[in-house]
Amino acid sequence: MADCLFCKIAAGEIPAEKVKEADDWVAFRDISPQAPTHVLIIPREHIATINELEPGHAELVGKLFLAAQQIAAEEGIAEPGYRAVVNCNAQAGQAVFHIHVHLLGGREMGWPPG
Ligand code: AMP
Ligand code: ZN
Repeated sequence: MADCLFCKIAAGEIPAEKVKEADDWVAFRDISPQAPTHVLIIPREHIATINELEPGHAELVGKLFLAAQQIAAEEGIAEPGYRAVVNCNAQAGQAVFHIHVHLLGGREMGWPPG
């Protein structure tokens, strides 16, 4: 999508600290980290929010979480624990309308989230 920040990061048109990538997803460090590890995992395909997901995206969404699992292991946060979060729309705090999994870890997390 032409005017989407995360589409541009996926295409390499805007720099980001990439952690890992595959044919259909890219993972990069959040520019404003909220935990010692804060990685965003995005599909290369532009999907604005969870609300736009279709049955055909099921495998892709699974891959995003498998990427989170893999990166958590590599970042050393798999055993102590981590959070994999997807915000949907404004009231949940979504600011970039290209679906992304936040992988957060390396510190104690509170519950319920703010
Ligand atoms: P959300 O609020 O769930 O939409 O999350 C958007 C996230 O993208 C925030 O945590 C931002 O810090 C992060 N972000 C915004 N711009 C960039 C960027 N250019 N590179 C990396 N992360 C970004
Ligand atoms: Zn996009």
